[in-house]
Amino acid sequence: MQRLRRLRRTAALRGAVAETHICKQKLIYPVFVVWGEGKKEAVESMPGVFRYSVDRLGEVADAVLDAGIAGVMLFGIPKEKDETGSGAYAEDGVVPQAVRFLRAHCARRGREMLIVADVCLCEYTAHGHCGVLRDGRVENDASLPLHAKAALAYAKAGADMVAPSSMMDGVVAAIRAALDNAGYPHIPVMGYSAKFASAFYGPFRDAADSAPQTGDRQSYQMDFRNGREALRELAADEEEGADILMVKPALAFLDIIKEARAHTLLPLCVYNVSGEYAMVKAAAAKGWLDERRIVKEILTAFFRAGADLVITYHALDAAAWEEKGV
Ligand SMILES: [Zn+2]
Repeated sequence: MQRLRRLRRTAALRGAVAETHICKQKLIYPVFVVWGEGKKEAVESMPGVFRYSVDRLGEVADAVLDAGIAGVMLFGIPKEKDETGSGAYAEDGVVPQAVRFLRAHCARRGREMLIVADVCLCEYTAHGHCGVLRDGRVENDASLPLHAKAALAYAKAGADMVAPSSMMDGVVAAIRAALDNAGYPHIPVMGYSAKFASAFYGPFRDAADSAPQTGDRQSYQMDFRNGREALRELAADEEEGADILMVKPALAFLDIIKEARAHTLLPLCVYNVSGEYAMVKAAAAKGWLDERRIVKEILTAFFRAGADLVITYHALDAAAWEEKGV
């Protein structure tokens, strides 16, 4: 008689037939870098997450190296914001400084980590939009050279990979061309290919101080009602030369992840965003959820759906728990 319960009898049996595992080498930890010195500021809506000034990054770099996760994704909060987000592409801006610091820190320790730089303008523009504004509208094509300039500044500083997150059409191609022309053909581009306009980004905007001052991002980020359109976005990034594709957010978009996996041969990254993290932390703080079990279940779901890489604020905790087998 068929008895599916036979293989669930003991933990050893269940472990032996488990189909999906969280692999810590596939986890990326997002890091917020703030202009200034001696800063480690707690992000209120994201317990356990901090904004570090460059000189304090050693602490988080050591945690990442010791955890054995893939590496970090950097977001910058500049000294000053302006209309064109010049802090994003200044060669002595906060992200290039952070990249150089992390490179040197890893070299001193004789260790390696993946340093990925997010490329966008929203943390750097006074209006908080991801591109330049003209008559209140975000200009697509005028924004592209600025993204390309930022990506190049990060590559020059020593970033391993750049990841444009603005959802401007053609941004991957613009960055690819700029990198190739400047002698960085070896630096991969990870597109935030299917990035949905989402209420799950709320806490991030606190952390990165990047909320739009007027309007919202629905004219460039995707409508969460659309699945087929997400596949078009993924295909467009692939055509433009992206090396890795991304779906963001992750938890409410598992169907998109699964579809994306079926439609591309490229590695697929998912971003387990700030709101997803905040919900878990808030419920766990109230004793309503078991944080370890819920995080394991959520991260496993991403891999089961087809993700190759997961960007998550839980990365350091999840790696430590895996290590201890909890
Ligand atoms: Zn942005």
